[in-house]
Amino acid sequence: MKSYLRVLADIKEKYDIDVVLGEDLAAKELRYSEVKATVARDYVESFLHQELLVYSAETLRKSKLERIVICEKLASCGSKANGMAEMKKLIVPGRKNTIYLNIGNERDNLHRGTVHHEIFHAIDYSDDYWGYVDYEWEKLNPKGFEYGHDGYDHFEHYESDAPGFLSGYGTTAVHEDKAEYFKHLMINYSGVEKRASTDALVKMKVERLKALLRKFSPQFNEDFWEKRRPLSGPVYWL
Ligand SMILES: [Zn+2]
Repeated sequence: MKSYLRVLADIKEKYDIDVVLGEDLAAKELRYSEVKATVARDYVESFLHQELLVYSAETLRKSKLERIVICEKLASCGSKANGMAEMKKLIVPGRKNTIYLNIGNERDNLHRGTVHHEIFHAIDYSDDYWGYVDYEWEKLNPKGFEYGHDGYDHFEHYESDAPGFLSGYGTTAVHEDKAEYFKHLMINYSGVEKRASTDALVKMKVERLKALLRKFSPQFNEDFWEKRRPLSGPVYWL
């Protein structure tokens, strides 16, 4: 296994991303505690590096992600969070495009999923001029559906069998819906395929997401997805 400093240098060299343990917070709604260096070292060496290596240099450089903050007790607006993305460089001059990853005790599919969910936000924000806005995706939903107004408990991260949605959280906002699709495809490709075989809206959203990703980076071809299938496992929730 590569040493911590070597891994950080490799990530910087390949993706131009800094992995750090703390920074000044611009967003007032965000809180976290700094992790001990030894804990961070273990997380980066034994887990984070492997998850990042799935991505080509081209993909992550195009995502414009500049920094990963690994932390503990991450909370947004007072609610516990496993991850957060802050892609606000265009809005807040001088801010680095950052994702925050909460280090859990386990290195399981929950935390693996969070890494990919947050990275997707960076991709989504950078894939066109409109950032997170995606009217075409919204049009896929049933007539009358509105994100954030559907009666779900939005902070309950349960899996959803509502037509077209893989999780309750995916109903909160269009960019969360897409990030949840990406996460599920990365962690439980077979499970999503199974849902898509009986749910036409899931099938359409998967096809739309794959097309967007393919346009973003040639890495996301069918070969890429074929390789995810044998790695499929449960998507955990807190
Ligand atoms: Zn999200």
